[in-house]
Amino acid sequence: MNNLKVDALVIGGGIAGMQAALDLGDQGFQVALVEREPSIGGKMITLSKVFPTLDCCSCITTPKMSAVAHHPNITLFTYCEVQSIQESGAGYGVAVLQKPRYVDVNKCTGCRQCEYECPITVPSTFDRGLGAYRAIRVPFSTAVPQKAVLDIDNCLLCGKCEKICPVEAVDFNQQPETFSIEATAILLATGFELTQLGAKKEYGGGKLPNVIDPLMMERFLAPTGPYGRVLRPGDGMEPTTIAYVQCAGSRDQTQGIEYCSRVCCMYAIKQAMLISGALPMAEITIYYMDIRTFGKGYEQFYQNAKAMGVEFVRGKVASIREDEKHNPIVKVELTEEGRIIERTHDMVILSLGMIPTASPSTFGLLPSSDGFISLPAINASPSATQRPGIFVTGAAGGPMDIVDSIVTAGAAASEASAYIRNKTGIGVAQREVAYA
Ligand SMILES: Cc1cc2nc3c(=O)[nH]c(=O)nc-3n(C[C@H](O)[C@H](O)[C@H](O)COP(=O)(O)OP(=O)(O)OC[C@H]3O[C@@H](n4cnc5c(N)ncnc54)[C@H](O)[C@@H]3O)c2cc1C
Repeated sequence: MNNLKVDALVIGGGIAGMQAALDLGDQGFQVALVEREPSIGGKMITLSKVFPTLDCCSCITTPKMSAVAHHPNITLFTYCEVQSIQESGAGYGVAVLQKPRYVDVNKCTGCRQCEYECPITVPSTFDRGLGAYRAIRVPFSTAVPQKAVLDIDNCLLCGKCEKICPVEAVDFNQQPETFSIEATAILLATGFELTQLGAKKEYGGGKLPNVIDPLMMERFLAPTGPYGRVLRPGDGMEPTTIAYVQCAGSRDQTQGIEYCSRVCCMYAIKQAMLISGALPMAEITIYYMDIRTFGKGYEQFYQNAKAMGVEFVRGKVASIREDEKHNPIVKVELTEEGRIIERTHDMVILSLGMIPTASPSTFGLLPSSDGFISLPAINASPSATQRPGIFVTGAAGGPMDIVDSIVTAGAAASEASAYIRNKTGIGVAQREVAYA
């Protein structure tokens, strides 16, 4: 694979990375975007609707995914891992590993005939294990690129996909390949992961079948979700009482996560409203310590949820166990009344917190006290890291919502743009000539 020289390398193709790449590409800079998954889209493409407008998430994300793929100044690399970043010349030399898809992307048309033919079913990571897909598949219906990927670990090597493929794209002999990208600036957009479902053992996550994580609920509520409706995973029953446990992975010294994850109150309120629409008879309770609705229109969103009948109970959840029918029983200390109660629900969602996907040290950077990438001059230069020319955007810099991810993408692109121009001495008007 050829080596590539660009003005900026964006690592991570979630909403923040896509927006930063588009902002820089629109200014005439040459951009490479590297995503470790087979498709761009990040967490946002898995969400149902977005607070505070309740817009369809796909409707916002899919056009951006498509714009990235078709932008003349953006080169997209999916299913790739960054292996090392070394200072080189005016910028950085980055070694990238292309993982084998076992499908030739130049031939694959995304027709999915391989998928229909494949006899092996595996849990779908896109649906957080709630649904299933084939060992060879296009990752999801709106994936970008629309190219199949083969999960070789679960493949029988029966060859049915190879035989049915009309363009002979299946290639069992593909090997990992390394290539390098030279970039003047790097934008880190590696995003976040949720804290472990089972991290707080007393809440039973990962053991009790009807205690789930909030991204699972997003998939239940999404039109493209695994069942097309909300069903509890333990037995497929339609739940009639559903509870949220807030701060189940944040603001908790025992977990070493003392910070607020900023989006959990809002996503719990959003999901409660969406469940009310999907299951009008359901009773929904949110157990919380404080409700934090900091953004534009967020407080009104909270008030609307209350008006819709969502119950907010101030208290600290001590533990969750289950009865013989696998109904979770929540033990909660009502902090304002000073008493402890137990209530049974059909299903409980733990509002888990956000932690960084990648350790800052992977990129030769220092972590701040919360473990996210340190931003040494956050007030003056909110995207700059301690390495010149490396900028951060989105949840890679700390927990944030989509609005802030897009805003920080603009900020990082703007800082990177000034940096690239200073470093190379080439203005935007001259770029087209330089790259012609
Ligand atoms: C349950 C839930 C519901 C939510 N609902 C809303 C909502 O309604 N409204 C709202 O505003 N916000 C919501 N959020 C927050 C929203 O998901 C985030 O703000 C947003 O996803 C952050 O985007 P990002 O691009 O920074 O990170 P991500 O979405 O995490 O994207 C990061 C991307 O980087 C890739 N990546 C990671 N490491 C590497 C690497 N080393 N190399 C290459 N690629 C890499 C990942 O695969 C991923 O594609 C919700 C969050 C949760 C958990």
